[in-house]
Amino acid sequence: MASNLTPMLEQYHRIKGEHRDAILMFRMGDFYEMFFEDALKASEVLEIALTARGRGTDNEAPMCGVPHQAVNSYIARLIASGHKVAVCDQVEEAGASRGLVRREVVRVVSPGTLTDPAALDDRDNLFIACLFPTSEGVGAASIDLSTGEFRIAEARGEDSWRQISLQISCLHPREILHPEGTEVARHLGREVGTGVVFNVLPGWIFGRDAAFRAMTEQMGTLSLEGFGCQTMDLAVRAGGALLSHLRSTQRSALGHIHRVAVHQPADHMVLDGPTLKTLEVTRSLATGARAGSLLSVLDRTVTPMGARRLQSWLLSPPVRAARTEERLEAVAELAADHRRRDELRALMKPVRDIERLAGRATLGIANARDLVALRDSLVPLRGIASLAAGFSSPLLSGRPGPLISSDTAGPPGALDDLSDLRDLLGRAIQDDPAPTLHEGGLIRRGYDAALDDLRAISSDGRSYIAGIEARERERTGIGSLKVRYNRVFGYYIEISKSNLPLVPSDYERRQTLVNAERFATPELKQYEEKVLTAQDRIHEIEYDLLCEVRGQVTAQAGRLKESAGRIADLDVLASLAETAATRGYVRPVLTEETRTSIIGGRHPIVEALDTEARFVPNDVQAGGDAPSILIVTGPNMGGKSTYLRQTALITLMAQAGSFVPAERAEIGIVDRIFSRIGSSDNLAGGQSTFMVEMQETANILHNATGRSLILLDEVGRGTSTFDGLSLAWAIVEHLHEAGSPRARVLFATHYHELTELALTRPGIRNLTVQVKESGHDVIFLRKIVEGAADRSYGIQVARLAGMPRGVIERAREILENLERNEFGRDGLPKLARRHDSSAPPGETRPGQLSLFGPPADPAEAAAAAEIRGIDLDRTTPMQALDLLARIKGKLGEPG
Ligand code: ADP
Ligand code: MG
Repeated sequence: MASNLTPMLEQYHRIKGEHRDAILMFRMGDFYEMFFEDALKASEVLEIALTARGRGTDNEAPMCGVPHQAVNSYIARLIASGHKVAVCDQVEEAGASRGLVRREVVRVVSPGTLTDPAALDDRDNLFIACLFPTSEGVGAASIDLSTGEFRIAEARGEDSWRQISLQISCLHPREILHPEGTEVARHLGREVGTGVVFNVLPGWIFGRDAAFRAMTEQMGTLSLEGFGCQTMDLAVRAGGALLSHLRSTQRSALGHIHRVAVHQPADHMVLDGPTLKTLEVTRSLATGARAGSLLSVLDRTVTPMGARRLQSWLLSPPVRAARTEERLEAVAELAADHRRRDELRALMKPVRDIERLAGRATLGIANARDLVALRDSLVPLRGIASLAAGFSSPLLSGRPGPLISSDTAGPPGALDDLSDLRDLLGRAIQDDPAPTLHEGGLIRRGYDAALDDLRAISSDGRSYIAGIEARERERTGIGSLKVRYNRVFGYYIEISKSNLPLVPSDYERRQTLVNAERFATPELKQYEEKVLTAQDRIHEIEYDLLCEVRGQVTAQAGRLKESAGRIADLDVLASLAETAATRGYVRPVLTEETRTSIIGGRHPIVEALDTEARFVPNDVQAGGDAPSILIVTGPNMGGKSTYLRQTALITLMAQAGSFVPAERAEIGIVDRIFSRIGSSDNLAGGQSTFMVEMQETANILHNATGRSLILLDEVGRGTSTFDGLSLAWAIVEHLHEAGSPRARVLFATHYHELTELALTRPGIRNLTVQVKESGHDVIFLRKIVEGAADRSYGIQVARLAGMPRGVIERAREILENLERNEFGRDGLPKLARRHDSSAPPGETRPGQLSLFGPPADPAEAAAAAEIRGIDLDRTTPMQALDLLARIKGKLGEPG
């Protein structure tokens, strides 16, 4: 049958054979066509008509197509629906050779390799990750193809997957690659996220030598010593494999990737998925949107590079004071200097996405408009560089300063304003160039002499042709004679039917219309030839020159990336300063102690949302000489969760290099922040919540160190009261006994019984949210004070919530009963026994709820009698548990 195929279909099948897992977009003229299965899938996803090629023949093939100008938006839609797309272009001009036009796949686009600006969020990175699991550990690599950002990491030993999951989850990759025959999805934490696509790579691509070579080739070095990863075998193999894969699918040398950042867990604060989520660092918990997150409160950046960098600073704050101090120093300088801050931000505003524009040039997909955007973005660099040089802090000026220590990479150096490249782009590319590459309109006059000559010939020819019209009108006496052009017939003279008798004999008929005839003359043909060949040549030369200029941009990709990085830093620092100045933040003091001291701290997000600005500031003292475990009790809606989170957010902001919402803040550097919310508070839902809560808490108990900050918010709530209380109690005890220094722990709970822990343990302090009771009402004062809530105020809250009056009254009655009569006179705790003065004390009536029936056994009754002396009205359920154990002991049962 193969011999029956048309040559074109044969070519199609050959190429498709190499890209079975992708939808093949096959360029034919002005369209990209898809055939067979691909056509069925694509027509459905893209909602375009399905037709057929060679209908009625043996070679009938289902087909659909999209116009080439709009191909990027169609690719983006196919990717969004989970497909991979191979783009197959005509790699020679139609008609250049006799037979079939040569076609090749020029790039393969997958969810992790989108580079079309319209499909990217310019304030966010888009990473593709690659994992290399072995019995020793896991190697990981991630690349943002659009910006050239490249990171590798590895983890060894039992804990490898968890560590790798932690790092990967911060990057939110859209696609994860791994060797054929390995299984990774199962090992990665839940937080790696939904919507990620897993794809496999052949095993050989991970080979030690091949991967090492791919890495050194890309970095242009002989070894990887300079990047600190020479001996990180697993990381290097993941990195090398990812580079090889991208080079082959993108048909590009990836010139914008020329360094690799090695992730050292010890250098950054560890923030896992659930913590980032509950603290709403980059996304609001309720909506999943950027609005309402810490990032959205802090982000006043004016460039896409700055926006992305701010996010990355917040996701991995340094744990070395020197690194953070460097940033704080710069923020302080800018915060204090309103005028220069404004000036700097105004200068940066017109700077577009230099990183991604350079990336497009390198990938060979930048058009002339991209190059103009790049040129315009380079123009302000000179002004920015000279302004920056005038600052005194090293991160702004690029010069060494007192704060630069051996802990940091050293001063970045003066900002390279790339004036050579800006001048080249300015000279070469037209101001408002064509969006296409092969139809001219790209290169500026005066840039290339040969091009200008051809243009002169072409335009001379054109004006000559325009002149022909006037001359022929005179010669023939036909006033309505017109010289026109169309693609099929070229230049022609059009004469209306009524004037046909006047046509001279040297006119050659070309075409007959209803009312007119079209003619050519030898002279016209001669000039046509000249104009058209000149024009073709012009288009070719313009395209070649554009590619050459693009090549020069590619050659400078390293410098571009460097300057883009400096702009990103300046932008973030100016943004943090702007936020600090407008929101009244202060510079935090970072220390190496395990102590947190915040005076007048505020929650940055709640404060920003509260338009009436009535946020009540609160203090935190934890660690050092003060107890490091704080138990926060108080009514629902009192402000406990807010207090916990603001403490963590202030810590995170301080270490990231931001000023903080407080009057004063002294932050002992934290290695990890853990934040867990009890399951019924967990808005995310969906999972078996109590199980998840316990898994996450187990993770904390295993991994927290004396330098960690731990938030436990209503942990233990997801199960029955006694279970939950017992667990919460044991968890706090465990954290307390963990050794010195103790982690700083804030535990918000409605189990006011937990406050008893502080009575016997010096490292635990009780805090409560102040409320004012007036009659049956409760007013939240939002003030955190020393002390313990002795009750939950649940009924008052229910009343504020509009619960029916009858329910409230009945609940109050039951509560009263419970509080007065938690234990019967027999010493056994009871639940809702109706308070009824007419009933004899201690008697349980049938049909009433009772946890324990009256003691039947004489030994039990004796045991109960033993403890009758206790003041039962003041006994809490926790003590009740103790009592129960004692009773059981008396009975000879194991406690
Ligand atoms: P809890 O955890 O005690 O139930 P939350 O922390 O969720 O209470 O706070 C309840 C509401 O009170 C929040 O919606 C918040 O807007 C508001 N709130 C909390 N703390 C403060 C504060 N210090 N100042 C002003 N409003 C606050
Ligand atoms: Mg709460």
